[in-house]
Amino acid sequence: MGRAFVYVILGGGVAAGYAALEFTKRGVPHGELCIISEEPVAPYERPALSKGFLLPEAAARLPSFHTCVGTNEERLTPKWYKEHGIELVLGTRIKSADIRRKTLLTAAGETISYKILIIATGARALKLEEFGVKGSDAENVCYLRDLADANTLVDLMKSCSGGNAVVIGGGYIGLECAASLVINKINVTMVFPEAHCMARLFTPKIASYYEEYYKSKGVNFIKGTVLSSFDIDSNGKVTAVTLRDGSQLPADMVVVGIGIRPNTSLFEGQLTLEKGGIKVNGKLQSSNSSVYAVGDVAAFPVKLFGETRRLEHVDSARKSARHAVAAIMDPNKTEEFNYLPFFYSRVFTFSWQFFGDNVGEVVHYGDFSGSTFGAYWVSKGHLVGSFLEGGTKEEYEAIAKATRMKPAIEDLTELERQGLVFALTV
Ligand code: FAD
Ligand code: NDP
Repeated sequence: MGRAFVYVILGGGVAAGYAALEFTKRGVPHGELCIISEEPVAPYERPALSKGFLLPEAAARLPSFHTCVGTNEERLTPKWYKEHGIELVLGTRIKSADIRRKTLLTAAGETISYKILIIATGARALKLEEFGVKGSDAENVCYLRDLADANTLVDLMKSCSGGNAVVIGGGYIGLECAASLVINKINVTMVFPEAHCMARLFTPKIASYYEEYYKSKGVNFIKGTVLSSFDIDSNGKVTAVTLRDGSQLPADMVVVGIGIRPNTSLFEGQLTLEKGGIKVNGKLQSSNSSVYAVGDVAAFPVKLFGETRRLEHVDSARKSARHAVAAIMDPNKTEEFNYLPFFYSRVFTFSWQFFGDNVGEVVHYGDFSGSTFGAYWVSKGHLVGSFLEGGTKEEYEAIAKATRMKPAIEDLTELERQGLVFALTV
């Protein structure tokens, strides 16, 4: 026995929320769409968890950041789903999927069947145990992926005011959480294996700009190493972190952000995988024509680069979700997804945006001792990527447009001289 729907979205994160909005805009009949989520709350804007949610005062709390407020669209509260005849099955984990039979089995034993499935299961945070370090289940160690994690982090920060935090990982979570910890008056040491922060995107020059600011706020950087173990007291709390060279850092709390793994396990052996995600075509359709995949879990063709990519960013989750729904509801009028990768972050009073791909030669521009600067990436004679810190709305739009155009670049020195003017006038 179980329930049957025409459309089922598996996962109740960012992509699910934007897919739901698109379904209603395209007139999905009441009772045909269901969203199943392990989380106990309706879809929300996950980026808020490492920013507004962590503020010491006037912190963002649900229901204020349900999707789709991140793009200034309607805020989809549980009431909204009800009014639109969308079944929200919350607090429910799917433990197995049968693609041939078109059914999903919940942990409680209910079978939910679909005609069309959209997989939006996102990703899980990588655990230190997967790198051979034990003890990250201690009560003062936290990861940050969902609301429960964010609540744990807030409670830990409240109990550690004036104390010491160790942040493991120099990526997005590491940098955004380190800034929040500083704002909450906690002393921060960041530990990561690379030579500089955000090594996969930032150039050394860009990284150094932000690192200098973090240092001016008291953040201590320990680079080129990883932790080897935790010291845990008789209450089960971490008191210190031991690094690979044997040195020790006192810790009242630890935040870990060492990357993610897409949640594909339900579909392994049933759907084609690529780049760690579910391989889909330009309509976000998987190797089974009744199954679509969107957001962090999808590996889709990025036309601009001529290759398949899996992206882990909110804009891609929002747009891939909407595109999949368009392809499902209006297949003849929906073109192939033609996405320009877009990443951003906000920490302290900084705000940067990046579009495209960070391959090839780099040209920096602007004032690295001031507040507006950036970089272009040029590959095979064409502009392929653009970064800008401290830009205006028009300037960000200009670098996005210029990157999508992929203009030919003959003279890197001239590009450097023109800087932002190049994007504004191309
Ligand atoms: P998710 O939003 O992760 O949603 C997946 C959902 O699937 C979850 O509800 C999960 O519980 C559910 N699920 C998974 N497996 C099952 C199952 N078996 N049964 C039932 N439910 C299941 N990106 C940016 O571009 N800018 C940012 O500033 C930014 N900030 C971020 C801050 C944080 C703290 C985090 C964690 C991520 C941030 N990101 C940011 C990344 C962005 O949030 C993700 O790319 C986006 O959430 C992906 O959307 P999604 O719907 O694919 O996955
Ligand atoms: P990232 O991939 O951004 O960064 C992970 C960092 O941890 C890298 O510096 C990585 O180094 C390092 N690392 C890997 N293994 C270890 C280890 N064993 N010990 C210490 N450091 C290690 O992932 P995050 O965890 O920061 O972010 C998780 C997800 O959330 C990502 O999908 C991210 O896109 C998303 N997110 C996005 C935000 C945004 O876009 N503004 C904000 C917050 C989260 P190496 O590169 O060598 O592997």
